Amino acid sequence: MIEIKRYESELLSSNMYVIVEGKHAIVIDPFEDTVPAQGLKIDYIILTHEHYDHISGVNIWKEMTGAPVLCSKACAENIKNPKKNLAYYFKEFCELQTWMELDEIPTLDSEYSCSADQTFENEIDIKWWGHVFKLFEIPGHSLGSIGIMLDGKEFFSGDSLLENSEIDLRMPGGSRKKWKEIGSKRIKTIPEGTRIWPGHFKEFCLQQVVEDRR
Ligand SMILES: [Zn+2]
Repeated sequence: MIEIKRYESELLSSNMYVIVEGKHAIVIDPFEDTVPAQGLKIDYIILTHEHYDHISGVNIWKEMTGAPVLCSKACAENIKNPKKNLAYYFKEFCELQTWMELDEIPTLDSEYSCSADQTFENEIDIKWWGHVFKLFEIPGHSLGSIGIMLDGKEFFSGDSLLENSEIDLRMPGGSRKKWKEIGSKRIKTIPEGTRIWPGHFKEFCLQQVVEDRR
């Protein structure tokens, strides 16, 4: 019986997910807290995209669990570079968030980088203990963004599908053109009723395809 656990980081409240089946688990977008890995064999570390708030735990999780890091080829390129994974600019991003008090901003590593072990282009299926993860590129918010569909029912969207909020295409490395041509079209193929597990905030059920998703 599969179980999806959500953990919120102090870094812009980004979500880390630990998907557990028996004693095995897959972690999506890890941050530094490795307590959720206890007693589990971590088979993969999967990244929804290259931004610092979604990758800050990659090095510590990799060191502790030995699990391979899997992401898109574009994401793998960008996580190696603190200017492309945005760690270099993150303090400024936090300060721009009006909902966050300045003294709440955690210590950030502006030189942070990490690396991937397996990459893919376009899409890939991962078979895992009786389940199937379908990973596919959805460029727009960032060039390395992907969506992760689990058993055709649960969708991990990173920052590319959030409840009641527009997708941010203006971050450095984002592309309105790719979003229009590729990313948004792939998002529109996700069926109604799918449970969405976003990169920030709580899960929700996809009710309808909003036409104005750019
Ligand atoms: Zn992002």
